[in-house]
Amino acid sequence: MEIGIYGGTFNPVHLGHIHLLRAVMETGWLDELLVMPDRTPPHKEAPGLIDGEKRAEMLSLALEGMKGVRLSRLELESEGKSYTYLTLRRMKELFPNDRFSLIMGADMLLSFDKWRRWEEILENASLIAAARDEGEYERLLEKAAQLGKTRVLKIEPLPISSTDVRLAVKQGRSLSGLVPEAVEAYIRQNHLYQE
Ligand code: ATP
Repeated sequence: MEIGIYGGTFNPVHLGHIHLLRAVMETGWLDELLVMPDRTPPHKEAPGLIDGEKRAEMLSLALEGMKGVRLSRLELESEGKSYTYLTLRRMKELFPNDRFSLIMGADMLLSFDKWRRWEEILENASLIAAARDEGEYERLLEKAAQLGKTRVLKIEPLPISSTDVRLAVKQGRSLSGLVPEAVEAYIRQNHLYQE
């Protein structure tokens, strides 16, 4: 089996994330895709980063009904900082017969060789990346050729970030077109991102 791993903070999940997920599933390259929110270290809460459980609940809402896509709590439930090389070591122990692909947006691929133990990561997984903004595709192809083991998806970019969503909440704007409706309802009900 080929298992995709889509990691991130998802603070909160937005339509740009979902757009990438759908595009990846449409390729047929993956048998299963795990969406893996990272952990919030209790002593190191970044400003505006909400509790992992709430981020996971919003992901569950957003992923409902997507075939082959599941939420994974592996990083949420592990100790310490969520380093991808450690996550991959753990995944290999759990699923010794499977292959892994990491899914990421352009910002992540372009800085991939700054990640801790990135060479080890590339020994244990391949990468699948896509543009977040117009004009990134060519740069991604170049980077992919440099790194090897990297596939670049040609998608129409949907330039949304979690930062945009948090800002929209603070400014009292509608979140339609930014997050799925169920996620907007959850954010309102739980009074998230108001400060
Ligand atoms: P923030 O604005 O808080 O920095 P973010 O929108 O970048 O958050 P993350 O949860 O950090 O979201 O991203 C998780 C993964 O999803 C990363 O690989 C990132 O590149 C990718 N990603 C985020 N937004 C998009 C988008 N609009 N299109 C494609 N990929 C995206």
